[in-house]
This record gives sequence, C-alpha cells and structure tokens, in this order.
Amino acid sequence: MNANDQTAQGEPATKAARPRIPLDEIRAQVEQCRRCPLCDGRTNTVFGVGNPNARVLIVGEAPGKNEDLQGEPFVGAAGKYLNELLAIAGLVREDVFIANVLKCRPPSNRDPRPEEIELCAPYLREQTRTINPEYIVTLGNFATKFILKTDVGITRLRGTLQQAGRFRVFPIFHPAAALYDGKKREALENDFVTLGELLGTRKA
Ligand code: SF4
Repeated sequence: MNANDQTAQGEPATKAARPRIPLDEIRAQVEQCRRCPLCDGRTNTVFGVGNPNARVLIVGEAPGKNEDLQGEPFVGAAGKYLNELLAIAGLVREDVFIANVLKCRPPSNRDPRPEEIELCAPYLREQTRTINPEYIVTLGNFATKFILKTDVGITRLRGTLQQAGRFRVFPIFHPAAALYDGKKREALENDFVTLGELLGTRKA
C-alpha cells in the first residue's frame, strides 16, 4: 500500500474511493449535529472557513467564546495574530482553510475530551478529503496528536515536517499559547518562515 491509499489518520482507503462530500453538505450535517453533549452549550457550530481548494488546511483545537458567538474560527486576538503569521509565510486567510478538531465550544474552554474528539472527528476527516490539501498545519497539542496519532508533544514536533497518509503535516504551537510567551512567539514566527519556504509563497 502506498501513501496515496491512506487517509490523514493513516486508515486504509477502500479500493473504490468514495466520492468527496461537498463542503456545504458537511457543513449542514455539522449544523444539525447532536452527537455529543457539547451541542447543548453552543451558540453556533464552527465548521471552518476559507478556500475550498486550499493547499494548506490549518487545524486548531476547538472554538472559544468569540468563535462560538460568531460561528467562525480564529476571530479574536489569536485570530489577528494568525493573520500576521500567515503574512510571514506570504499567505492571506483566503489562501487557506481553517477548521478545528471540535466544531462546538467546550464549556469554559476546557480541554476537549477523547469521546468528544472521537464523535466529532468524522467531520474533519470529510473536510480533509474534500479540500484535499497538500499540507495540514496542526496548531498545538490536541490537533497534532489527533492528526498524527502520536503521544509526542508539540514542543518536540513543532517545525518538523511529518506525514499522515498522503498528507504532509507541519505541527506548530497554537497562536493563543504564544500570544504572551516571547519564546513561543519566536518559534512560531520561525515556523511560518519555514512553511512559506516549503510552499514557495514567502516573499524575500
Ligand atoms: S462537537 Fe462535534 S460531535 Fe459534538 S455536537 Fe458539536 S459537531 Fe457534533
């Protein structure tokens, strides 16, 4: 089996590939979803946003307060910082697609629970199949561990090119974790330089 026969999570694909589900259809499923108890506390589901043909899929953890209120990922201070980081790589938001592992906000921004991740994961899997990016950029520990199926932490993996099935995976710190931590900021900014070089989008 070669890498093209696998999904992002390394699962074997069926011989006759399933047709890709249009993003609008996946979005409609998410909007109706009541698979886990997080549906009870949400204001909005946060499906994700961006270029449906993006070369880069950015995967975060879960919606926070502002994301839940607006139904969009990365809209607060971390979102503004993410825009600055994308610019370092020679990208704008419209170039990439941004989604989270969980589509509904955990109460008080607590960590996602394994059972919630398991129930919500099929949506991200379908988004990934449909967008079919070259690179998946994972933000922070939860997204990185989920996509790479690893217990190795983000501090060791950040800035190193990994592979999950046929996708190149580039783990980096979560921008929210780096906002007030100078060392993490420096690492994050260096990693976006590398990302721009990998993509060939970085301006000299
Ligand atoms: S977090 Fe995911 S699985 Fe849980 S209700 Fe929301 S969309 Fe459904």
